[in-house]
Amino acid sequence: MSNTHTNKSFDKINLDWKQIQSELRLKLGTEVYESWIKKIDFVEEFNNYILLAVPTRFIRDWITSRYLDQILQNIKEHKKEIIRIEFKIIENKSNKVKIFDNLNKTNKDENVSFIKDSYVQFNRIDPNKRFENFLIGSSNKIAFEASRKVSENISHYNPLYVYGGVGLGKTHLLNSIGHEMSKSKKVMFISAERFMYQFVKSLKSNDMVKFKEYFRNTNILIIDDIQFMNGKEAMQEEFFHTFNALLDKGSQIIVSADRSPNKLSRIQERIKSRFSGGLVVDIQKPEYELRKKIINHKINELTNLYSDKLSISEEIQNFISSKVTSNVRELVGAINRIVSFSRIYNKMPSLAETKIILKDLLNLSEKNVTIDSIQTIVCRYFKISKNEMLSSRRSRYLVRPRQAAIYLTKILTTKSLPEIGREFSNRDHTTIIHSVKTIEKLKEKNPEMSNNINKLKNIILYNKDNEI
Ligand code: ADP
Ligand code: MG
Repeated sequence: MSNTHTNKSFDKINLDWKQIQSELRLKLGTEVYESWIKKIDFVEEFNNYILLAVPTRFIRDWITSRYLDQILQNIKEHKKEIIRIEFKIIENKSNKVKIFDNLNKTNKDENVSFIKDSYVQFNRIDPNKRFENFLIGSSNKIAFEASRKVSENISHYNPLYVYGGVGLGKTHLLNSIGHEMSKSKKVMFISAERFMYQFVKSLKSNDMVKFKEYFRNTNILIIDDIQFMNGKEAMQEEFFHTFNALLDKGSQIIVSADRSPNKLSRIQERIKSRFSGGLVVDIQKPEYELRKKIINHKINELTNLYSDKLSISEEIQNFISSKVTSNVRELVGAINRIVSFSRIYNKMPSLAETKIILKDLLNLSEKNVTIDSIQTIVCRYFKISKNEMLSSRRSRYLVRPRQAAIYLTKILTTKSLPEIGREFSNRDHTTIIHSVKTIEKLKEKNPEMSNNINKLKNIILYNKDNEI
């Protein structure tokens, strides 16, 4: 099945599934790629989810239980708005490989112990996230150094608690610690969600003894995204005891979260105070220098992957590093989108195109959206003069553009209704409200109006004059 790029509008680039597959190959390794990822076909993309196809139910379940998060994460780097993946089973006769049937059988016949099974599933250290490819800047240096020291066993920071917003590199750092320490120690790397899931499963299957043994047997316990630990008392109880038992025997514990320990809402006080008892470090948003470094690094990495030079211009690199500021994941996502674009259209995007491709990632400033610029753009768009727009004439060809300009002023600036009224030839604020409501209604019913408003918004916000 092939990926179709029928929609020519740049801000609606369809996912380049082949590229995502090759990113996943890099991330999960060739073996996983060959056995699973390669078997997934792209079917269709919807507003906030995508439909993929696999040849059997078994493959679907296997992929869902092991790689779904990772796949979704890569997809999100290209398209933030995709929030889930759905699978369809499309049997592919030629594709019936024995190994699946065998695997299927083993799984059914043997009563594989849950813990043993999940060890394989969840204790997956990603070999691509290491200290060596973690780029350092002032925003993450302290967290990096603390992690490094912990992994070299020369710190007495126990537990180490790393926190920071989404996409800032927490998982990368925790994974690096795991990767490093697993060379000589028994490491357990698990997300808090999985921990809870296993806890509940073990309870149900009367496997608690194994569960406890399993976690308490490790030298290094790494728990990612502890803010998701919102389980019942019994689970927190168990977690607390595991935690203490490990600390008592000198095992290292590393925890990450999106907030500081005292802000964790659903976690017992005594656990929070345990977290605060070690070293607490945070990762800040990447500063400009680090953003540039990451962009460079990513471009080099992709150049190696595609073995041809990616000539993303200085201008675009500078644009991305100054506008995509919120986190590293989005920064990497921005580069991936540029690359997707260049592969689909066979050219590098211009700056104007870049603005559209990265629309949702850019931090827009309202500063240069003025009433005057809105009026000018709307007049040009509807081919009327500014005098006509500001006049009191009520011809239909003037009324709609006028209302559209008023509506856009209301939604794109922080001006009050009387202020807007003044700028439109001293119209009364009730007229302004009426205009806004009229356009809102028309947008609902009339696709042409909604299309016009969207185009105008694009032009006003991104100075994108020519339509694509
Ligand atoms: P978090 O867990 O904080 O949400 P991740 O660790 O998943 O963030 O990071 C998001 C993406 O950005 C990952 O692909 C990661 O490898 C990359 N990344 C984050 N920080 C850095 C960094 N300092 N150097 C290189 N890559 C980074
Ligand atoms: Mg993470």
